[in-house]
Amino acid sequence: MKHSRLGIRTPWDEPPAVGEAIEVAEGVLWIRVPLRMALDHVNVYALDDGDSWTVIDTGLNTKATREVWQSLLSGALGGKPVGRVVMTHHHPDHVGLIGWFMTEHGATLTAPRVPWLMARMLTLDFEPTPTAEAIEFRRSAGMPAEQLQKYQAERPFNFRDVVAPIPLGFTRIGEGSTVKMGGRTWDVRIGNGHAPEHATFWSRDDNLVIAGDQIIASISPNVGVYPQQPNEDPLAEWIEACERLSQYAREDHLVLPGHKLVFTGLPHRMKQMIDNHVGALSRLADWLKVPRTAHECFPPLFKREIDAGTYGLALVEAIAHLNHLYHKGEITRTRREDGAWVYQAKG
Ligand SMILES: [Zn+2]
Ligand SMILES: [Zn+2]
Repeated sequence: MKHSRLGIRTPWDEPPAVGEAIEVAEGVLWIRVPLRMALDHVNVYALDDGDSWTVIDTGLNTKATREVWQSLLSGALGGKPVGRVVMTHHHPDHVGLIGWFMTEHGATLTAPRVPWLMARMLTLDFEPTPTAEAIEFRRSAGMPAEQLQKYQAERPFNFRDVVAPIPLGFTRIGEGSTVKMGGRTWDVRIGNGHAPEHATFWSRDDNLVIAGDQIIASISPNVGVYPQQPNEDPLAEWIEACERLSQYAREDHLVLPGHKLVFTGLPHRMKQMIDNHVGALSRLADWLKVPRTAHECFPPLFKREIDAGTYGLALVEAIAHLNHLYHKGEITRTRREDGAWVYQAKG
C-alpha cells in the first residue's frame, strides 16, 4: 500500500477555502464549490481568456452554491464575466449551474455531444414516484423486500432537483478536438466508464491536464450500472479509457481533477486506477464461489461499511463489476424465485 502511493504528489496540501481561488498556473484558478453530500465539494476551474473567464464545471444548482459563485465573481474572479462554461461530463455536481451561467450571465456552452444530451434529457425528465424499471432494477439486484418497499414509497431523486434548466445551443467537442482557453491550446481526449463520453483536456503549451472525474488521485471514480441500461458493462469502457489515456500521461503533468487535490504522478495513478478494479474483480470472482445477489457482493468490493447514504452508489458499482465478469463469461446468473439475479463463478 505504501508503495502504491509513492508516485503521487499533491503540491498544495490544502484546497482553496470556500469563496477563494488558488492560481495553479498562470491564468488558471482552482476553486472549490461545496456540496451537501458525503463527498462535500466539487473542484471547478476558471481560465483567464483576457476579457472574460472560461469556467470548467459548476457545482449543483442550490441557493448556497449560487451565492458562493456570486461572491467569487466579484471577488476572486475580479468582476470579469464568465463568457463560456465547459462541461466535462453530465453528472449533476458538474452541470448544476450551467443553465444559470447561460441565462443569467450570457455564457456560451462547450460540451461533448453525449454529456449534453444526457444532461438535457435528465433535466426534462420528471419522476414523482419510482418508475417500474427502477424498482425492477433493485429487485433484480436482490434488494431486501423491506428496503425495496421503503424505496417504492419515497419520492426519488430527480436530476432537475439540483440542475438548472439547460437552454438550447452548444459548441460540440470530441476526441481529437482542440479548444483554446486560458491562453493555451488543449487537446480534447474522451474518457468513458464513469460517465459516457467524458471530456478531459491536455494542454499543448505546458503540463496541465483538466481531468474532471475521469482521473482523481485519492478516490476511485464511481463506475456504475443504472436502470437505463441494466446489462451495460461500463467497467470494460473504464479500463479501455484508462489504458488509452495512459499513453499520454507524463510525470510532470499537473492534474486538475473534479474532486480532491490537484496532483502529479499521473502515469502511476493511471496504472493504479486499472489495478484497483482488476483486484476487485478477482476478489469478487472468489466471493462468488458461493451463489450471491448483487446486494450480497459489497464485502469483497468495499473496505468501508455501506450505509443508507452510500448504498445507491455501492449497488450500481457492484452491478458494474458483476456485469463485467458476466460478459467475460467468468460467472453465470440465474433468476431466483423473488426475481433477484443470483451470480456464481463457473467451474
Ligand atoms: Zn462524475
Ligand atoms: Zn463529480
